[in-house]
Order: sequence, then structure tokens, then C-alpha cells
Amino acid sequence: MMIVMKKSATEVEISQVVGWIESVGYRTHFSRGVERTVIGAVGDERGKEQLLSVACLPGVDQVIPILAPYKLASREFHGKRTVVDVGDVPVGGEAFVVMAGPCSIESEAQILESARVCHEAGAKVLRGGAFKPRTSPYSFQGMEEAGLKLLALARERTGMPVVTEVMNTEEVSLVEEYADLVQIGARNVQNFALLKKVGQAKKPILLKRGMMTTIDELLMSAEYILSSGNSRVILCERGIRTFETATRNTLDLSAVVVLKDRSHLPVIVDPSHGVGHWKYVTAVSRAAYAVGADGLIVEVHPEPAKAVSDGIQSLKPAKFGTLMEQLRTMEQALGKIRELDE
Ligand code: PEP
Ligand code: MN
Repeated sequence: MMIVMKKSATEVEISQVVGWIESVGYRTHFSRGVERTVIGAVGDERGKEQLLSVACLPGVDQVIPILAPYKLASREFHGKRTVVDVGDVPVGGEAFVVMAGPCSIESEAQILESARVCHEAGAKVLRGGAFKPRTSPYSFQGMEEAGLKLLALARERTGMPVVTEVMNTEEVSLVEEYADLVQIGARNVQNFALLKKVGQAKKPILLKRGMMTTIDELLMSAEYILSSGNSRVILCERGIRTFETATRNTLDLSAVVVLKDRSHLPVIVDPSHGVGHWKYVTAVSRAAYAVGADGLIVEVHPEPAKAVSDGIQSLKPAKFGTLMEQLRTMEQALGKIRELDE
């Protein structure tokens, strides 16, 4: 922590600040400039809350943390990048991983057909919601355990690992039994009890950014999972709420760059919830690849017009096939640039 004193700070004020810092268990390190004095507080995290109140002392201008508060999630703490295995699919390594499938699991025929087309087009992980967070209590809420069973059947048929959402602490062990990757959705990104609970899970976690979550808050949420013992977390940018209404959310692709700079965790993008309309999904997916994301999670439905949720933003199989083709072409052209960027 750096404590920057005001230009007008007196010697008495400076020594009061030093006394305070030392009284809460930190050592001080002095830097006297021509205009200002900067005092470094050196020590571990434990007294940090108390140390922060040094800002209330007379003569103090700014208190600036030096290290990120999300130690385990931060790149500076960890060094090399983390690769998270989802079943046998590594996420965060060299390959760009596409996860695809319907918003909701609706029937055996629907999930098996979705799995078949996604697999054929080159997707590596199958998505499908069995517990659905819906804005309205009157909307379809998901097939629950029956849906999880169908998802497991689709995995058996295609060999693709599966990702599905868990919404509350009581259902973590059930979802974990079926899923290869457990999703925490946008609405639960700061459900700290749930984050702690999935921190004890044996499966990796896909943590989606909330519509009102800053990048630092997302990383703090990841920290909850990591500090509870689960080191396998994948971050997901899925759009945030802004003043813009032409798209469902505003897909913040710059967040990918910032997250990859600040954290060692893999980062994927959900273009479907990001833009909310199938027309825009392919273009922003290409952008996500170019910006350096480790993968995508895309909604694909065999018959979007009949989907019980998010049909409007779901790609038809043929459109998804085109997207996968385009991504392969981009890989040939941009793969080298992505490597250099590392
Ligand atoms: C979903 O993946 O279907 C979903 C509900 O996503 P989000 O939590 O990002 O809205
Ligand atoms: Mn959806």
C-alpha cells in the first residue's frame, strides 16, 4: 500500500501517519520527493482493512493499493497461465475451444440433435441449461434433474463433455454429478454462499460476469472459488448492461484483454447473451477470437423458432457451421499473432 501525503502535509502529520501504520503491524518505507512525501506500508494482507483507514488521518491525500486484492486469481501471483481441463478438453491452452448447444434442454430429441450438429461442426463442449434463471417466474424454469440426465445421454452419444448451470447451494452436488463444467450464471456472480460451495466442488467452474459487475468484482468472485479450494475456474464475458438498447447487453470485448492481463485464468466469451440476436453472433464471435479469448460459449438450436428460451439469439446448425469454418480460417491467418501476443 502506498500512502501519498498532501503537498501541505506537515512533519507532525507525516509522523502521525507513520505511527498509525506501524501500530497496525506494518513497516514503513519512505520516499521524500521535492513536492510530496510517499510512504510505503509493507506487510501482509491481514491488517489491510485497518490500514485502509489511514485515509482518514490529516495530511493524507491518497491511499493506493499496489497488489491486486485477488491474490489467487491474479497473474502477478501465479505467473504462468492456467489451463483448465473440461473432461478431456483443455481450455486456456493453444486451441480455441468452442462450447455450443441450446439455451435450455427441452427434450431428448432436441438435446441429442443439438449435440449431433454441434459435434459435427467442431464444437468441443456441449452446453444446455437444466436449471434456468428466468426474469419471469412464469417462464420455463428448466427440466431440472430430468434435463441433466438427457445431457449426460448426449455426452454418452457424442463423447463431448457438458456444461450446465447451478443456481443454488442445495443443487451443487446434483449438478456436479452430471456436469463436466459447472456454470455460475450472470445473476449469481456475487452469490457468495454459492461461490464458496462450488469452491468445494470437484468439477471446474465456468464463472460468468454479471450484467453489473466490474472486472475487479468478477476477479474477486473468482477469488472466492479459488480460496475455497477449487483451482479450476474459467471466466466468461457475456455482456454488461449499459445505456444501449439495440443489443440485449453490451459485449465488453475489452474485458477479455484486461482479464487476460490481470489474471492467469482462461477467459471465454458468450456472444449469444452478449448481443441477444443471432444476426450479430457470428461477427462478434470472430472479434472474440481476434481479441485473444480462449474460446466461446454459443447458443445453437436445431429449430430456434421452437426454442422455449433464447430462440432469437440461437444460431441454426448451418449458421453455426459457417461460424466454425470462419474460425478455422481465422486460426490460419491469426494463430501466429495470438501466439506472439502471449
Ligand atoms: C445461459 O447461459 O443460458 C444464461 C442464462 O447465461 P447468463 O447467466 O450469462 O445470462
Ligand atoms: Mn440463454
